[in-house]
Amino acid sequence: MIAIDPNTAAALWRYCTSRQPEEACGALIGVERKGEFIVTGFFPIANRSPQPTASFQFDASEWAELYMRYRVVPGDPTEDKQSTGLIGTFHSHPAGPAAPSAADLESASIIRTELPVHLILALQTRDWFAYRLTKNHSSALGGEWFIGLNIRISPPA
Ligand SMILES: [Zn+2]
Repeated sequence: MIAIDPNTAAALWRYCTSRQPEEACGALIGVERKGEFIVTGFFPIANRSPQPTASFQFDASEWAELYMRYRVVPGDPTEDKQSTGLIGTFHSHPAGPAAPSAADLESASIIRTELPVHLILALQTRDWFAYRLTKNHSSALGGEWFIGLNIRISPPA
């Protein structure tokens, strides 16, 4: 389950819509609490795919900067349980469905993040879906990498 507050959700839809006809992409910020992911914000990242209307690829330096700044290190003694950090990625499908495309299933921008939550916003149908990488995602290409997560719009906890 993913919870996202209405303001963040609206801003995310607005941003993705503004990037049409290209796919918008970026990082999701939030916390994991009792198995639920709470999205509290997002950062756009430039799409450097050679075919940006059909796929996305994070700008490497923008991603590296966000990663270094916002990654949550498990077991870090300075980690504040209430603090937020990187929990996933988002990207839009200007024309396609809210499901991972063939390119997404091999996307380094998704897989190499090793983050749990990946949100896809389908702009034509105003539909969205969140996916979670399965445990073996980094060991092999193809196969069942994604399981679906329900999205709940709710005020911040
Ligand atoms: Zn995609």
